[in-house]
Amino acid sequence: MDYKIALIRGDGIGPEVVGEAVKVLNKIGEKFGHTFTYTDVLLGGCAIDACGKPFPDDTEEKCKACDAVLLGAVGGPKWDSCPADIRPEKGLLAIRKALGLYANLRPATLRPALADASPLKKETVDKGIDLMMVRELTGGIYFGKRDRYETEDRGTECTDLMAYSEKEIERIGRRAFELARLRRKKVTSVDKANVLETSRLWRSVMHKLAEEYSDVEYSDMLVDNTAMQIVRDPSQFDVVVTENMFGDILSDEASMVTGSIGLLPSASIGDTAPGLYEPIHGSAPDIAGQNKANPIATILSAAMMLRYSFDLMDEAQAIEDAVDAYLNAGYRTADLAGEGVTPLSCTECTEKIIALLK
Ligand code: NAD
Repeated sequence: MDYKIALIRGDGIGPEVVGEAVKVLNKIGEKFGHTFTYTDVLLGGCAIDACGKPFPDDTEEKCKACDAVLLGAVGGPKWDSCPADIRPEKGLLAIRKALGLYANLRPATLRPALADASPLKKETVDKGIDLMMVRELTGGIYFGKRDRYETEDRGTECTDLMAYSEKEIERIGRRAFELARLRRKKVTSVDKANVLETSRLWRSVMHKLAEEYSDVEYSDMLVDNTAMQIVRDPSQFDVVVTENMFGDILSDEASMVTGSIGLLPSASIGDTAPGLYEPIHGSAPDIAGQNKANPIATILSAAMMLRYSFDLMDEAQAIEDAVDAYLNAGYRTADLAGEGVTPLSCTECTEKIIALLK
């Protein structure tokens, strides 16, 4: 098969880590008999430099002509003084909106070889961490009506409206149940139904879906309890689905307990192709251009792309197994190398992973 991939290399270490992920994809193509064709697309700081805007006119069209988008990272100090409407992050928000990406998937997986890096107790970590946070990305309080006004007796007052429709909840819920079927068949839906009306609607829609997906084990959990359970016993979770703001906070918490934020990939998907795949880290301007970046989060993002956009399960697994084999062999880039370990460069890291691809 031939798959078309839009590459948004972006800024800082973005071009380095995307370049490495492409090498791994090409090797997978060779081994499994697929062709990956790439189109370079501008977005973020480099787009501001090239054409004065973070989301150039042809970026949407070029991405939509592809089957998936792989993004490095955007932004950096060079563009910090740009006016608010031409900041690199504007490009990120614009591409998510243009592609209708309403579901954000953030796996938090503890790589066994890095168990010591987790801030949790050994007996907790030993049970394993392999959860998938599914966050609603385009609704809720971040996109609701906001207001600021003066009152007579209380000074300035502000409001942020949290709104959710049945349709918005159902489509993200369906995503979560479908994903669970590809994993350990367990969904935890997180809300604040003891207080919020939007959460009560959320819960009733999820319950209807749970009846439909009766092969998937389902439970509700309040958001405050979930925050505690993620540090008490993250092994209890498989797929966790929640609304935008709760998901924003809980996905960072879940990433942190794995102890290796630099290894974590993410995906943003909608109802139609292309989905967008990117590491959760930023453009790391402090190490850009030095061949020091850890490319694994982007390589694992490419693996997610194979699994979720192209349905290439064996190929995705081959990449994940090679990353585990690399870590088990004790190889480390500078961000993870402890004392006495000679760090590998970004390109050496990829060479080792490619050599370990089965
Ligand atoms: P960052 O993730 O870029 O860097 C934080 C620290 O982690 C730095 O010390 C960096 O060197 C290190 N680091 C990050 N990724 C690494 C990797 N792959 N290998 C080795 N070390 C790595 O976060 P920041 O410093 O807060 O942000 C820098 C820029 O990135 C800012 O302009 C920010 O807006 C942007 N940013 C972009 C995205 C995105 O494109 N999705 C996300 C977050 C931040």
